Amino acid sequence: MINFTCDVLPGRVLFGAGVREQLSIEIERLGCARAIILSTPGQERQARELARKIGKLAAGVFSGAVMHTPIAVSERAVALVRSLNADCTVALGGGSSVGLGKAIALRTDLPQIAIPTTYAGSEMTPIIGETAGGHKTTKRTAKVLPEVVLYDPELTFGLPVSVSIASGINAVAHAVEALYAKDRNPIVSLMAEESIRALVLSLPLIVADPKDGSARSDALCGAWLAGTCLGAVGMSLHHKLCHVLGGAFNLPHAETHTVVLPHAIAYNTPAEPAVMGTIAKVVGTSDAPIGLYDFIGRLGAAQSLRELGMPEAGIEKAALLAIRNPYWNPRKLEYEPILELVRRAWMGEAPNVA
Ligand code: NAD
Repeated sequence: MINFTCDVLPGRVLFGAGVREQLSIEIERLGCARAIILSTPGQERQARELARKIGKLAAGVFSGAVMHTPIAVSERAVALVRSLNADCTVALGGGSSVGLGKAIALRTDLPQIAIPTTYAGSEMTPIIGETAGGHKTTKRTAKVLPEVVLYDPELTFGLPVSVSIASGINAVAHAVEALYAKDRNPIVSLMAEESIRALVLSLPLIVADPKDGSARSDALCGAWLAGTCLGAVGMSLHHKLCHVLGGAFNLPHAETHTVVLPHAIAYNTPAEPAVMGTIAKVVGTSDAPIGLYDFIGRLGAAQSLRELGMPEAGIEKAALLAIRNPYWNPRKLEYEPILELVRRAWMGEAPNVA
């Protein structure tokens, strides 16, 4: 017999090729009439196209979203929201655009529609990480959960293969840590397993053909599930380490997750052999950390923190930061083995499965 609590978060999802065409209906369904479209500078053209499509329902476009949601950018966006008298936000893009929508919601309570075009999964979580003065602070509040999500796989056809791989492994990381979360439960675990399966099967097909509609659809569905896991249960060493590395050395978010994941799993294997057995089975290997490391290598992703620009002198600092503020992890956090984990990840060596 098991007892558990499962917080199912509210939210409306439309999934499928072409669902972006439903945007006007969804804006009106929320009772809104003046949407501001949010994007990164790289997706400004797509954001303006979307604005044109919804015509008079578009109040304007803000294309200044950047990674890690700097508070200064959010404040500029909120000023524009107020001057345009916008009554909802539409975030088009990855975690950076969705993060900006959340930051605006936090400050204004405006309803949000998210149209994700990466596999980061932020649209499914009540979590917001904001940066100021080189320091990232994370909050959990239902205020930032988007009201509506439109998952349109056709919008991911142009996501570069290298970004697709890193973003897909970022999603796998949410699902993996959900499987050994302190507050894990059978419902979230089912979603996590299915998420890993969908991404492991679809990512090689996307590498072979980035416009493979069915692979893009499967990957986006896997990302949705992974985001749901991230929003539902607590994360551990892997996410903490990536947070620390991203903040301390300004490393790219998804790529850092891709390098660290096999090593973090190796660290936690002695404490969670059954979960690692499940992951290995889903990945189609006999050993979860080595199997994932090899899988990521076959996809052609960067596998060392060195390649991502982290200085060698930062290895000790990263290990110290990773254990500084205690948090729950299936295996006790110890400096020496974590130092070895970071060293291997920096070098790009295979994970330590001893
Ligand atoms: P991102 O949003 O910065 O996107 C990466 C790059 O890909 C950007 O330059 C973007 O313009 C481009 N891009 C995105 N979709 C594209 C497409 N379809 N075609 C072409 N180019 C495209 O990166 P990300 O990894 O999606 O998100 C990272 C951010 O999200 C970080 O700030 C991270 O902290 C945050 N995040 C938050 C949560 C949460 O729950 N709060 C979860 C995951 C990630």
